[in-house]
Amino acid sequence: MLYGQMMKFPLTTHSIIEYGNRVFPHKEIVSKMPDGSWHRYTNAEMYKRTKKLASVLVRQLGVQPGDRVATFAWNHYQHLELYFAIPGAGAVCHPLNIRLSSEQIEFIVNHAEDKVVFLDASLIALFEPFASRLTTVKHLVIMNASDELLTSLPNILHYEDLIAQGKDDFDWVEVDENQACSMCYTSGTTGNPKGVLYSHRSTYLHAITTMTPNAANISSADRFLSICPMFHVMAWGFPYMCLLAGADTIMPSKHLQPASLIDMMQKEKITLANGVPTIWMGIYEELKRNPIKGNLSLKEFMVGGSAFPAGLIRRFEEDFGIACFHGWGMTETSPVVTVSRLQSHHHIMNDGDKIRIRAKQGIEMPGVEIRVMQEDGTIAKKDGKTFGEFEVRGHWIISGYYKMENINSHSKDGWFKTGDVGTMDEYGYMELTDRTKDLVKSGGEWISSVALETTLMNHPHIAEAAVIAIPDEKWVERPLACVVFKEDKTVSGNELNEFLLGHFAKYQLPKRYVTLKEIPRTGVGKFDKKKMRSLYAEGKLV
Ligand code: ADP
Repeated sequence: MLYGQMMKFPLTTHSIIEYGNRVFPHKEIVSKMPDGSWHRYTNAEMYKRTKKLASVLVRQLGVQPGDRVATFAWNHYQHLELYFAIPGAGAVCHPLNIRLSSEQIEFIVNHAEDKVVFLDASLIALFEPFASRLTTVKHLVIMNASDELLTSLPNILHYEDLIAQGKDDFDWVEVDENQACSMCYTSGTTGNPKGVLYSHRSTYLHAITTMTPNAANISSADRFLSICPMFHVMAWGFPYMCLLAGADTIMPSKHLQPASLIDMMQKEKITLANGVPTIWMGIYEELKRNPIKGNLSLKEFMVGGSAFPAGLIRRFEEDFGIACFHGWGMTETSPVVTVSRLQSHHHIMNDGDKIRIRAKQGIEMPGVEIRVMQEDGTIAKKDGKTFGEFEVRGHWIISGYYKMENINSHSKDGWFKTGDVGTMDEYGYMELTDRTKDLVKSGGEWISSVALETTLMNHPHIAEAAVIAIPDEKWVERPLACVVFKEDKTVSGNELNEFLLGHFAKYQLPKRYVTLKEIPRTGVGKFDKKKMRSLYAEGKLV
């Protein structure tokens, strides 16, 4: 055996913050804080405070290597400090999804055995109801408390007091690159939340790869608006990417209304942003309603987490000159597995075909592999037609859930079974049509609820549409479409089926339409189909 003679240099989040401080100390971190004030400082200042915080975690709060330390917070500079200080102390940064139910959060904190929780003062009311039932938490640290803070929580510490006591010459706790640096729980749309532990190495490799031009294409020329919550799969890796790429980081905390985000984009000259489809649909409508003076500097945004309708990709570009790129992933996959961008051979296509490619979920990034597994255990052809379940493996794909065994999450030969179903075309672009649990099987034929939803959302009068399967005597299942109309607009079911007929066979059309004011959503803004199915079963969706 002849080994290469290159140095062994561990891939860690320590090295990410060190790089950001060494090469881009002058880059800005801007936060619009929960109380509406603005906070600005540089990477160099962030670095110093992060060191202080790490020193306090170890020396005063008794955090040991491998301990889980939770955050319950909006996107802002202190949350960013925690992203690096907790692993810097050898521990595991565990952002909690503030939008889950009390029962779910209580379950998650107790299951993860979090030792410390860092809590935004503006979120205390959400935390108090279950705080007394948390069995492992030894310290609660409040961030951004005002002088009149009133809380029933016992023995609280204050974030800025801790920082003031810290030492900025603290040495990061040495870690092996395969140690855990962070964790997230799935949002439990398909069962109890499950814990996913990311390693220093997987975090580094995911960030380095997602930065590249075929994916996020982020550089030191960018000013990045981090809309995706830091509790949603580590904000898709962007906090790490901004330091590695030297992009300025701008964070909105709770100011997520479309008008506030647009205002921030204008004031801060944002060039790149990320967010789930709901956010971008809201921004589009707001821009239409209240056209801004001049152009936004936003050149592109990343959208993912749910399918993004092709019509909206086109309208963003035609109406406002803003491009978007679509990515796919899961909590279990760090998250980014694929991104959809056009390649050189696509340029001869007409605009409609180009948009259809961009609306697909995209091609795999280097470092991960995807296969499309059919029900009979054979791998589907790459023809854009043959369906199967996506199975993935790679550097940043889960090998097992935290403290859970035997849950049939992997194939016998070690691939992670995503539960997402779809096709892959000859160029490797995958297109997701459903989750295995959401599929509609009608008269022996699969119907794609995602395709029905995205097509309905292309209708000019529809704001949102979600499709579930409902029982049918003749066909076993048929689709039920729940639609939210834009202000003052309504369209009959027959007219909507006419609209769909250009794209679908007759048997695929929804059996019924239900008009809703809003579609039930999960903690990370996806259609909550489990809830919709139970509402239907209770007779409330008729
Ligand atoms: P949870 O699994 O807890 O709902 P995740 O954020 O991990 O939360 O969700 C992952 C799922 O979201 C994927 O398995 C897929 O079904 C869906 N998803 C993610 N990105 C896309 C996308 N670009 N298009 C369609 N569905 C997507």
